Amino acid sequence: MKNLAKLPGKMSAGFGLSMIDRAVKEKMLGTRCKASDLKPVLDYFQQDGVVRCFYCEAPDPKRWDHLHPVSRGGDTMPGNLVPACPRCDDSKQDRDIEVWVASSSPHRPPPERLGVLLHKVEAYRKQFPYEAVEFSSRLSPSQLDTYLQFRAEIDALRRHLETFGMIKTKGATRARGAAPVQPRETT
Ligand SMILES: [Zn+2]
Repeated sequence: MKNLAKLPGKMSAGFGLSMIDRAVKEKMLGTRCKASDLKPVLDYFQQDGVVRCFYCEAPDPKRWDHLHPVSRGGDTMPGNLVPACPRCDDSKQDRDIEVWVASSSPHRPPPERLGVLLHKVEAYRKQFPYEAVEFSSRLSPSQLDTYLQFRAEIDALRRHLETFGMIKTKGATRARGAAPVQPRETT
């Protein structure tokens, strides 16, 4: 019974809102590969028949982590996906490896491991080229306008929920996937 969770998972309103934000972003521009496209990636990460967590090397990772997060314009594509254990995936959230390592999050990699991890990313992307581009830089002006309208509604709902104590007040911890996006300067 080791795979049964101790308790059913709990969904916070803040997490739900950041999932809406992420879904909108993914729908607007995220490129999504097929499962079969990940077969060569799995082969790449396999060593002696074992796939390990990209970050901590725990065997049998259960998830795919986006190196460049979906919330910041990352794609579900080879070169941006790495196998990860739930512990590392949950700890990293929507951050770059450097920011994660420098954070105080539990289960972050130790600072001395940063160089190894960045080197692993570089080697991986030599095999599976992928260029990380920030979300707002990938949108046309009209797409950005559409996104900002959705975002204003999500933010309004967040404030409403805060008022009723349904959600942690902003500033404590920013919800996963809800990094601010500024309107792009038009020159
Ligand atoms: Zn791990």
